[in-house]
Amino acid sequence: MKIATEAVQVGVEWDTRTGAMTVPIYQTATFRHPGLGQSTGFDYSRSGNPTRQTLENGIARLDGGCRGFAYSSGMAAITSLLFLFKSGDHLIVTEDLYGGTCRLFDRIFNQYNLSFTYVDTTDNDAVQAAITPATKAVFVETLTNPLLKFADLPALSTICRQHNLLLIADNTFLTPYLQRSLDLGADITIYSATKYLAGHNDTVAGLVVVKDPALAEQVYFHQNGAGAVLGPQDAWLVIRGMKTLGVRLDRQQENALRIARWLASHQRVTKVYYPGLENHPDHELMQRDAKGFGAMIAFEVDEHSLVEQLLLKTKLISFAESLGGVETLMTFPEVQTHADIPPELRARLGINNVLLRLSVGIEDGDDLIEDLTQAFEPEP
Ligand SMILES: *Cc1c(COP(=O)(O)O)cnc(C)c1O
Repeated sequence: MKIATEAVQVGVEWDTRTGAMTVPIYQTATFRHPGLGQSTGFDYSRSGNPTRQTLENGIARLDGGCRGFAYSSGMAAITSLLFLFKSGDHLIVTEDLYGGTCRLFDRIFNQYNLSFTYVDTTDNDAVQAAITPATKAVFVETLTNPLLKFADLPALSTICRQHNLLLIADNTFLTPYLQRSLDLGADITIYSATKYLAGHNDTVAGLVVVKDPALAEQVYFHQNGAGAVLGPQDAWLVIRGMKTLGVRLDRQQENALRIARWLASHQRVTKVYYPGLENHPDHELMQRDAKGFGAMIAFEVDEHSLVEQLLLKTKLISFAESLGGVETLMTFPEVQTHADIPPELRARLGINNVLLRLSVGIEDGDDLIEDLTQAFEPEP
């Protein structure tokens, strides 16, 4: 079955008694035991809840993994994965990383003697060179934020196998609809389901999918032990959002390509980062490994004053953080999403004071172009 179809099916046929089309929201903390030493399979909602489990099984199917896990946020999901490592362990990490993940690694987990080396994970030699005897894992963003570099997962997975390292892929920007990271060699995928999977800017959630059953047991132990699970209402919202994943992304990508081309031809735009443009360095690799180029665009304008003008003058496009929802959002990475990245690294990566990021939504493309056109016009 194709991914778009699988996504629609999540939660369907769950309730054989009433035939309800959607899974109920099991708003309960605990479950009655049918007898001594007996369980319905559910005992306490931190350990397992039917609504959450429907989502967990659904994302595992979409990603082709053996088991899925739902957390209260993407950061809670990543935190839970870090419990797989011990004091002294070292991880190799994508350098233009989501700011929140960088903060979690460098300002929280480094206190527990985990160390992180940031490299360009699209450069396989750089990854190889960063491996030390303490290295236990490579953590990559499959499509990076905000500069949209694309990782070569099959090549990274070969390196990881040779050195017995776990390959963890944050596939938030692509989702299983555009790329199945486990099929390409990752051991674990993580998602901020807040973004494309839920897709409506209405809930915060995180998901993890694991390929190997023994590793999944450990991840479950940590999910239940640390307890940052997703509540049933939010699990239901994510399931509801996921059903339209395919149609949303089709429209978002169509709009994104159109806007990227429009920006590339605009006089006041000096650079456009969108992997769907033929001149993007990872365009061909992405054609090989992904089913589309996503709907995130970063671009540079010719002077800093235009940044504020665009953020404030756009009417339909909102100046807001986050991404992946049905509404088009624009943000200024240097002071918003990437403020927690060290300034030297930001400068080296190209996250500067003329760079803007667009998360393209499902609106009619004509309206988005019209909004951008009027926002670029000089103030009277
Ligand atoms: C948003 C995001 C996260 C964090 O997820 P939350 O749901 O906000 O906690 C992690 N990785 C990437 C790539 C993200 O975009």
